[in-house]
Amino acid sequence: MGWRAPASIHTRLTLWYTSVLLITLLVTSGFSYWLLTLALAQDVDRALLGLAEVIREAVAADRAPETAEAIADSEFRDQFVQVVDAGGAPAYLSRGLKGQTLPLSAAAREGARRGRPTLETVQVGRRHLRLVTLPVLRDGRPSQLVQVGVSLSRSHRALARYAETLVILVPLGLALAALGGALVARKALKPVDEMSRTARRITAEHLARRLELRGTGDELDRLAETLNEMLARLEGAFAEMRRFSADAAHELRTPLTALKGGLEVALRAARSPREYREVLVARLEEVDRLIQLAEDLLLVGRSGAEPASRSPVDLEQIALEALDIGAQLAQPRGVTVRMEVGEPVTVLGDAAALQRAVRNLVENAVKFTPAGGLVEVNVDSRNASGVLSVRDTGPGIPPGDVERVFEPFVRLDAARDRESGGAGLGLSIARSIVTAHGGTLTLETALGRGSRFTIHLPAATG
Ligand code: ADP
Repeated sequence: MGWRAPASIHTRLTLWYTSVLLITLLVTSGFSYWLLTLALAQDVDRALLGLAEVIREAVAADRAPETAEAIADSEFRDQFVQVVDAGGAPAYLSRGLKGQTLPLSAAAREGARRGRPTLETVQVGRRHLRLVTLPVLRDGRPSQLVQVGVSLSRSHRALARYAETLVILVPLGLALAALGGALVARKALKPVDEMSRTARRITAEHLARRLELRGTGDELDRLAETLNEMLARLEGAFAEMRRFSADAAHELRTPLTALKGGLEVALRAARSPREYREVLVARLEEVDRLIQLAEDLLLVGRSGAEPASRSPVDLEQIALEALDIGAQLAQPRGVTVRMEVGEPVTVLGDAAALQRAVRNLVENAVKFTPAGGLVEVNVDSRNASGVLSVRDTGPGIPPGDVERVFEPFVRLDAARDRESGGAGLGLSIARSIVTAHGGTLTLETALGRGSRFTIHLPAATG
């Protein structure tokens, strides 16, 4: 079983914070303990040297025993004085030593020979002592040695007490800080909890709900704002989807009702085989339109997605194929179709989808242009984009409807009357195909003078 990180940010934050604090406390405690050790040692040495200095002067003036006793007795029970002659034999021992002698090391002798004091830490019996050895100079030569020792037990006690304090204070401080940290983290993250609770209540049916802003303008407010914007977009998309399904159902119901009506009329009386045939042929046309509509609906669903493939596509080739189909439609209607190519241009995309988009434009142009009119397809390259436009001399589109015609199921009144009118999906399919290819489809039109639909697509480079 492996260790797993705690689930909530606030627990993790608290753990992190506490660990960092623990390390900080340990480092500062260790450092302060070390500094105290140094300071105590310095104090002891300084006091010891001062004392040894006083006794040396007393020895030089032959007042050693009185001075030493006075000092040792008065305040410092744990201080010991020893005077040694040049040969190393003890000349005086303070009472506190109780007959024991202080050790005289080779280093201390050497120091004395050079006229310098020597500081050492030694063990006498069970006591640890700090010991200073100081020469008494007569005629420039050390005649006697003054040794003053002080027990280190006081310093050790002080250090031990400090360590005890740390052992209590560090965990206590850590516990308090962890508690405080946990409270702060919980308070700071409370809005996040609230946000997720609200977000959980937002479903597809309640997309109008929004996360509450606290007005602090901080990161959490910005997050809530971003989420709210996303919700608004989702709400819009859902509404559009709902509208689309309703429109689609409506579009399907009309021809199906007509079909049913026709069949019911045919069944109402006995008919001759020829009559039946006529009815069936007539209904077949409706079935064809239904199939076309179903295919278009499928296409609308798919056309907004990323192109299935992205290969180099020659725009001129696309225009030619669309024009071919347009010409077949145009001929019986007495409409002329023609094409003009400026600079040839290649774009990256799904040839079949682009073909479909252009075909929709050309078919519309032919469909809505009266006999004697002209439909012209233009291919050119401009500012690193491929431009394909379809112009006609048809009725044009009222200015108020220029954007509307790209919406699904929108047919203008004039077109709705016509038998040839489609479901109003052609332009919306064309636009979503072009947009999915990173391009734009725009319309310029003047009532009574015609329309021009223009596709801009990023040209393939290299
Ligand atoms: P459909 O052609 O199936 O009606 P579209 O989405 O292709 O649907 O077109 C939507 C509407 O835009 C058409 O019904 C028509 O009113 C108008 N329209 C499209 N193209 C033209 C055009 N070239 N000239 C005039 N009106 C047009």
